[in-house]
Amino acid sequence: MTNCIFCKIIKGEIPTEFLYQDEKIVAFRDIKPSAPVHILIVPKKHIEKLQTVSDNEKDLLGQMLLVAQKIAESEKIAKSGYKVCINCGEEVGQIVPHLHIHLLGGWETEGRCSC
Ligand code: AMP
Repeated sequence: MTNCIFCKIIKGEIPTEFLYQDEKIVAFRDIKPSAPVHILIVPKKHIEKLQTVSDNEKDLLGQMLLVAQKIAESEKIAKSGYKVCINCGEEVGQIVPHLHIHLLGGWETEGRCSC
């Protein structure tokens, strides 16, 4: 989608370092992190939000979660625990209308978000 910031990142129009990339999914660090480790897992296909995912995209959702699991391992937050979060609609704080999973972790003791 032309005006979507994540589509621009995926197309390479906004230079961004990918921590992970395959034919369907990319992952990169959040520009305004809410945790010591804050990574976004994003489908290359422009899907607006979880509410608009169709049944035939269920494998994609599973793959996105497995990418989160792998990145948590490589970022060394798997053992200490982490959160995955999807904001589903602007009404609850989804700013970028392109489906994405937030992977959050790396807190020492205090400071975890409460979601
Ligand atoms: P959400 O509120 O769930 O839509 O989250 C969108 C996230 O995208 C926010 O945490 C932003 O900080 C992040 N973000 C926006 N633009 C960029 C960018 N160019 N590179 C990395 N992260 C971004």
